[in-house]
Amino acid sequence: MFNLILFGPPGAGKGTQAIKIAEKFGWKHVSTGDILRAEVSQGTPLGLKVKAVMEAGHLVSDELLIEIMESVFVNNPAVMGFVLDGFPRTLNQARELDKMLLKHGQGVTLVLALEVNEEELIKRLLKRAEEQGRKDDTEEVIKNRLVQYHHHTKPLIEYYIEQNLYKEVYGVGTIEDIFGQLCSVIKP
Ligand code: AMP
Repeated sequence: MFNLILFGPPGAGKGTQAIKIAEKFGWKHVSTGDILRAEVSQGTPLGLKVKAVMEAGHLVSDELLIEIMESVFVNNPAVMGFVLDGFPRTLNQARELDKMLLKHGQGVTLVLALEVNEEELIKRLLKRAEEQGRKDDTEEVIKNRLVQYHHHTKPLIEYYIEQNLYKEVYGVGTIEDIFGQLCSVIKP
């Protein structure tokens, strides 16, 4: 089983590349952002709980995220690999993920980061706001999301470097070029 974490700040292109990787290798793409947005748009109790937090660009609680991931693993026993997109986002989530995988005799296989400079990220996120009308893509919320990334998510880089799992790919260029570079690092 290949447990790939696609890592990077908001706007780095994780979603686009995760879909392509999952398709190429026959793995399951898991975007916690997509899962949460679906809950919000369906107006489920979970969705109602997280709506305001998401719209402000803050992080949803670790507890909820871990619960969601646990059910993803339990409900997909037959998949050969996962492409995690947007999870883990805090050290606590990373440690809980390790525990969860260990329970099933597994671990994180590779953490692949997309490296994109801040100016480019803001440009992309503002463009996406126009095109997709995501409520969390306004300028102020974008800033918040980047602050959350720097504060809570970036420390994971050290965590995975220490475990020798971390690799980085330059995330500016054509989608196909970046995809090619990512694929050359993935050795199933
Ligand atoms: P994304 O589409 O990955 O940028 O996620 C959109 C929003 O969903 C984030 O800004 C958070 O509010 C929430 N979210 C998604 N994944 C996580 C996570 N692993 N931990 C906490 N909040 C998350």
